[in-house]
Amino acid sequence: MAIESFNPYTGRVLRRFPAFSGAKTERILAQAAKAARTWPQTPFAERARLMHRAAALLRERQDALARLMALEMGKPVTDGRAEIEKCALTCNYYADHAEDFLRDEIIQTAARRSFIAHEPLGVVLAVMPWNFPFWQVVRFAAPALMAGNVGLLKHASNVPQCALALEAIFHDAGFPPATFRTLLIGSDVVEKLIQDDRVMAVTLTGSELAGSKVAAAAGAAIKKTVLELGGSDPFIVLADADLALAAQTAAQARMINAGQSCIAAKRFIVHRSIIKPFISQLKIHLLALRTGDPLDEATQYGPLARPDLADELTQQVEDSVRAGAKVELYGGQSQPGTALFRPMIISNVKPGQRAYAEELFGPVAIILEARDDDDAIRLANDSRFGLGAAIWTQDAKRGEALARRLEAGAVFVNSMVKSSPEMPFGGVKKSGYGRELSHLGIREFVNQKSIWIG
Ligand code: NDP
Repeated sequence: MAIESFNPYTGRVLRRFPAFSGAKTERILAQAAKAARTWPQTPFAERARLMHRAAALLRERQDALARLMALEMGKPVTDGRAEIEKCALTCNYYADHAEDFLRDEIIQTAARRSFIAHEPLGVVLAVMPWNFPFWQVVRFAAPALMAGNVGLLKHASNVPQCALALEAIFHDAGFPPATFRTLLIGSDVVEKLIQDDRVMAVTLTGSELAGSKVAAAAGAAIKKTVLELGGSDPFIVLADADLALAAQTAAQARMINAGQSCIAAKRFIVHRSIIKPFISQLKIHLLALRTGDPLDEATQYGPLARPDLADELTQQVEDSVRAGAKVELYGGQSQPGTALFRPMIISNVKPGQRAYAEELFGPVAIILEARDDDDAIRLANDSRFGLGAAIWTQDAKRGEALARRLEAGAVFVNSMVKSSPEMPFGGVKKSGYGRELSHLGIREFVNQKSIWIG
């Protein structure tokens, strides 16, 4: 794939970037490996000062960065600004808490003194996706840099300007340049980088296929990986739920980033007694959303990030309808090869249909009918994915009991699934492994060293 900025709203190429040569990539890798020896000597207070400065720069550049996302991947500017604010918050969070999270942990043993020390691993390669071009990177980079690691970013090929803007933020904040570098390279170079002894670990957010390829290469080279892959999150609405609020939140949760979010609600599992009013209310909320130019302040959802993603989604829906799914709300693409995809609702989704088994990475809501609580849990867990899940019920105890039965990395009761710096984020099953954010996220790329003093 070419490394180019392509505006999915206008269909125009904005800029093309030549991929870095092997020699350039080698030079950056050598500098990164060198920085990995000196950067950990920097005191936490100094790392924190720089990370707070990165947060301030994100806020200063908020409008320009939101505009860049709008141009490169179609995110409405209002959502883009919110994404940048969340990145800034996360930089502040790790600046404030990293030292605490990585403090020596005393363990009582037969030794005079024994404890766990947390030491950085070194150069970590981050393979990142285009859907939240800043957030996905910052939630890796903030903890990694604070822990004393060095980051090499291989961003998705359609967001090179966002990738370069991220590098500029850390450099302008005062981080030594080699501690965070963007590599403008194709995915074909990733395996070679993983094989290189100077790369100590890899983190990937993206599709199952990319995750399995990267994890296989890392496994062969015996390197730690964190994988944050797809999801097909259930959103369970029980008969005693606040239906109006559930339907309104359902529309919001399905439409995050025009449906292109791993934790967007994708499968709406609704008790049969309320299924009709739920569908009609969901329909009203989806139809009320305004689409348009992502640069326009009034736009609530833009085009998908690339026309091929919209083509693939259309294919998934058409195959499912041919296999028996029923269209409740017509939308989709106006013609193949265009990126705008209007929201859709499909019901009568059954095993054997693509919509039942696969992730639909765009604004298509799937309705599944549940007979009772057990049936809802069975449907929710009948998925290869296990990222997030939501349950709607007025009975908090019932919600909590059911939350424990869901195969997911996070369950939210009476709310949509969200990520925040304080709570761990990650999945089970084909949604990946390892955790980002919180105190757990920063400990993924450290050597948890046992020290025993007799
Ligand atoms: P990919 O998983 O292909 O891309 C994500 C990142 O992985 C990009 O940086 C990409 O680079 C890189 N990559 C892709 N293949 C390889 C490989 N074999 N080895 C190393 N790196 C690789 O996502 P797509 O853009 O193709 O989107 C397709 C689907 O992936 C979506 O429809 C959705 O289901 C899922 N997805 C999930 C995301 C999430 O948040 N969990 C985010 C984005 C996508 P390059 O761009 O150069 O190919």
